[in-house]
Amino acid sequence: MCGIIGYTGGTGTVDRLIEGLHALEYRGYDSAGVAIVDECGNINVVKASGRLKNIEERLRNRIDLRTSGCGIGHTRWATHGAPTDINSHPHGTPSLQLVHNGIIENYLPLRQRLIDLGYTFESETDTDVAAKLLDYHYRSTGSHMTAIRRTICEIIGSYALGIIFSDAPSRIYAVKKDSPLIVGCGNGENYIASDITAILRYTNKYYQLDSYEIDVIEKEQIVITDLDGNPKSKQPHCANWDIQAAERGGYPHFMIKEIHEEPDALKKTLNPRIKNGIPDFSVDQSKDEILRSVARIHIVACGTAMHAGLYGKSLFESLAGIPAAVEIASEFRYNNPIIGAGDLVVIISQSGETADSLAALRLAKQKGAYTLAIVNVIGSSIAREADHVIFTWAGPEIAVASTKAYTVQAALIALLAIKTNRISARQNRYK
Ligand code: GLU
Repeated sequence: MCGIIGYTGGTGTVDRLIEGLHALEYRGYDSAGVAIVDECGNINVVKASGRLKNIEERLRNRIDLRTSGCGIGHTRWATHGAPTDINSHPHGTPSLQLVHNGIIENYLPLRQRLIDLGYTFESETDTDVAAKLLDYHYRSTGSHMTAIRRTICEIIGSYALGIIFSDAPSRIYAVKKDSPLIVGCGNGENYIASDITAILRYTNKYYQLDSYEIDVIEKEQIVITDLDGNPKSKQPHCANWDIQAAERGGYPHFMIKEIHEEPDALKKTLNPRIKNGIPDFSVDQSKDEILRSVARIHIVACGTAMHAGLYGKSLFESLAGIPAAVEIASEFRYNNPIIGAGDLVVIISQSGETADSLAALRLAKQKGAYTLAIVNVIGSSIAREADHVIFTWAGPEIAVASTKAYTVQAALIALLAIKTNRISARQNRYK
């Protein structure tokens, strides 16, 4: 997991990028870096291993970058190559720089091909290979879009990429596959970010990128295209979180703040779904017949969310008499799960972007099961791809150790089990 931020607009790029990176440090903090276009249109890269403060001081002293109007930034959690200065993002060439979240699985053969073509690599990262491949295609075609398109057709794996070119100094390109990336819509300025908390101080309006979509972001416009370059029209989402929710608000750290927010998160999540003391999911437009006729339940999640799932399993079995299994999402697709029509697969994820949970969801759909997502982020990939979604209303959870998100997941799944008990054909004990 890494954090990506990008800004194009008026002056103040340095501050916007640093603020965004602070908000994204929970996604990775072994190194950080930025690429900022200066007044003369040159791309300046400042990056270093260690915490964000290592580049923060250096950036504040760069008076030449104060008036810059465009840049991208990254906070890293290394997967390929040690957390060193040279392996930090951005990566690129004098023509372009990019930041990356994800893993390029075929980076070794691509790297060898690029070496044969005369490229050299100082870093050990998979990301550097994507950057040089993009450079190669840009040199061969002279077109940003074609180069991006050719690059993403060749790389295998997961990625969210923020890209700037030296000959388009106020433009950011954004493209993704499976890793999260949003485009934030400001007033005379626009953003890219791994999640909305990084830009919430400036805007709560955002587009969630789809895989293989290429977005072109300038200060006054955002052009969304499919892989073939055809324009796509999309409605922006609106985050109903305020900035206080994404800041520490006087608490020494996010985890203690989020523990204190549990009662409120529970109220927001449960109250709209209990009418006259009875579970009622009409606010989610849930279809009772799914719960009524379900033969087996598979709960699939990672980490803490999986523990909410274990609680759910016990309740579905004891209250509703429905056999339930809990599976860790990272193993699910490798176990060739025996599921199909009549099965309900419940995917639990705070961010709605957990890569293994998303892959499990896709496999479950492919096998004909009905998929229900319990997620906290509107517009997230899991929320969009599941057959049905029930949102937890926990607000942003920034601390890596889950607290309020877990509590509301457990509460929601309990409510769902009680609802299933009331309508299930199998077990009416608690009616
Ligand atoms: N694979 C890239 C690296 O190691 C990005 C890491 C990530 O997204 O977690 O630098």
